[in-house]
Amino acid sequence: MMPSANNSAPAEPTIHVEHLTKDYHLGATVVHALRGVTLDVYPGEFVAVMGASGSGKSTFMNLVGCLDRPTSGTYLLDGIDVARLDADALAFVRSRKVGFVFQGFNLLPRMTALGNVALPMIYSGVPKKMIEERAMAALALVGLADRAGHRPSEMSGGQQQRVAIARSLVNGPSIILADEPTGNLDSRTSVEVMAILQRLNAHGITIVLVTHEPDIATYCKRIVRFRDGRVIQDQLNANRRLAAAVLAELPSEEPEVDTV
Ligand code: ADP
Ligand code: MG
Repeated sequence: MMPSANNSAPAEPTIHVEHLTKDYHLGATVVHALRGVTLDVYPGEFVAVMGASGSGKSTFMNLVGCLDRPTSGTYLLDGIDVARLDADALAFVRSRKVGFVFQGFNLLPRMTALGNVALPMIYSGVPKKMIEERAMAALALVGLADRAGHRPSEMSGGQQQRVAIARSLVNGPSIILADEPTGNLDSRTSVEVMAILQRLNAHGITIVLVTHEPDIATYCKRIVRFRDGRVIQDQLNANRRLAAAVLAELPSEEPEVDTV
């Protein structure tokens, strides 16, 4: 499956998984969380992963994000067979190639927005003098340059998620993995977050986003549906909505950046 519109030589997939399985052992019982998932995600895609609770979406994201290892199957991230990497090499690949965005934002409460965004660069050894500049640039990309000195408690949920998106970008990842990024946000703020993700995607960032909200999936380019640890549907979303246009139609409100 290759939904790219590119008619030159086919690009290498960013994510290539084949017959991926994951079992969890709970005492004497085994939970088959993934039962053989085969999927390619190409550069520039924006994929929504949908499916009922317990269908394996988060397990899939954890494997793709190199946070966990599969029970069996193949996974190539940018052509790298991650199953062959030891723990240190896996952590290195994860920090350079994958940006994570979570439902609960996962920001450190005592750090400013700038400090939170800088963290992945400190762990990955970016030279000190470049860290602040890059963190500021990432905050500017999500429209929060003027909130750099604020702590998470001084920001709205939407702003906190935008800080988390900025943090996910700073090491120049091949892919952003977002697990229910709008799950804690009201509907308008959710559309604002989708507008930012669509803008980043338009600039070439590949995104895989888990959501159980059909409305959120309509902003993605491709929708993959899981059931009982398997992919049961995989289709391009021809009627993709543009979040910026939807926002422009919504009754005007105080812009979110001015509501602290
Ligand atoms: P989803 O994100 O679609 O709700 P999950 O990937 O979280 O689904 O879970 C898939 C299945 O694996 C569920 O039955 C869940 O209970 C089980 N599961 C997930 N994580 C663990 C774990 N760490 N230990 C045991 N079972 C787990
Ligand atoms: Mg989940």
